Amino acid sequence: MITTIEERATELYHVVRACGLCALSDTRTNAVPGEGPLTAEVMCIGEAPGMNEDKLGRPFVGAAGQFLGELLGAAGLTREQVYICNVLKCRPPANRDPLPDEIDACAEYLDLQLDMVDPLVVVTLGRFSMAKWFPQQAISRIHGSVKEIDGRFIVPMYHPAAALHQGSLRQVLLDDFAKLPGIVNHARRARQTPAATGSVSKGGGPERVAGSAEVPPTPVGAATELPVAAVNSPAHGSPPTFAAHAANEQELTAERAEPALTDKTEQIRLFD
Ligand code: URA
Repeated sequence: MITTIEERATELYHVVRACGLCALSDTRTNAVPGEGPLTAEVMCIGEAPGMNEDKLGRPFVGAAGQFLGELLGAAGLTREQVYICNVLKCRPPANRDPLPDEIDACAEYLDLQLDMVDPLVVVTLGRFSMAKWFPQQAISRIHGSVKEIDGRFIVPMYHPAAALHQGSLRQVLLDDFAKLPGIVNHARRARQTPAATGSVSKGGGPERVAGSAEVPPTPVGAATELPVAAVNSPAHGSPPTFAAHAANEQELTAERAEPALTDKTEQIRLFD
């Protein structure tokens, strides 16, 4: 029997909602698995649910989430186009920092989400998701830069909530997010023509079934609860799916003017 990605996502959703792997399950109201199209090219990974997320069982629905929507807008993206989740699926009491054993207990869920969605670009929001790929780095040094790891482009960013406390980070975040269209374009090309870019094609990953006749349309309203959404979203490798947007236009113009986007990406790669 073939298991579709949607079936895997639904199963994961229910497992996370009922998870008891760490003590946070005793204090949470709702586990927050994450949400977004399983065909998303961009995955944003935050730290952990806060009070509002815990209440609603959805990621980034409070003030930080509102700013995240604005930041995605600066990248020509809507919230509905990206997959959004957290390192921890349950709220730590009083929003304290995640503990190492909580991160360990939750790690497999995030790995499964990365495997299922297989995003071209991962945006880490804050130091806890950054640490999954760059445990020794300082966010103040590497934010807004990009590193390719196993055919996927990882972009560490400040957490949107940081800008709510420290106003000067607001513009930093907006500027960093404005780089995303170029990074996504580069990542698309890297997947399509690994030899040309020197990138490693993942290949052999889970088969995408978006748009397949076997997949029933997501019921109205379900996208707010289930991680299975947007079955009509284009698969990777399609022509640019982001709405025509000034930032994207700028990027295309810049690409024409420059010999290779790789060079442009290299310019913002601050670490290797
Ligand atoms: N902060 C996070 O890191 N994640 C959320 O879902 C909300 C706020």
